[in-house]
Amino acid sequence: MPADCLFCRIVASEIPSDRLHEDDLVVAIRDIAPRAPTHILLMPRRHIASAAELTDDDGPMLGRLFSVAADLARAAGIADSGYRLVSNVGRWGGQTVDHLHVHLMGGRAFDWPPG
Ligand code: 5GP
Ligand code: ZN
Repeated sequence: MPADCLFCRIVASEIPSDRLHEDDLVVAIRDIAPRAPTHILLMPRRHIASAAELTDDDGPMLGRLFSVAADLARAAGIADSGYRLVSNVGRWGGQTVDHLHVHLMGGRAFDWPPG
């Protein structure tokens, strides 16, 4: 684990978070600065810098991550109205934390394309 990775430290509980789910592959927390009524971050336990680093071997983790996202969306009551799943990659993609994460956002309508 990179010592300076914020999300590795959150996964390791060295930094507190509002944790909504955890299992052997995936951790889900509430975003500290929500941009929608529901704003959850889903991340692998293992450090992966971004979606650009994923390989075939990460299939089980990704399947888990997206099924947990669907479960959390249902639990948050946003599944029927719809929601946004997004993973920012790199500087122009808007990535600010270099540990792969997927934003689960809902509770309002979103524009397309994003700004
Ligand atoms: P990115 O910009 O990399 O796609 O998303 C990073 C997200 O992490 C942002 O939405 C930001 O609000 C969130 N974030 C940054 N620091 C923390 C933190 O310490 N705790 C939590 N729960 N979220 C954080
Ligand atoms: Zn990390």
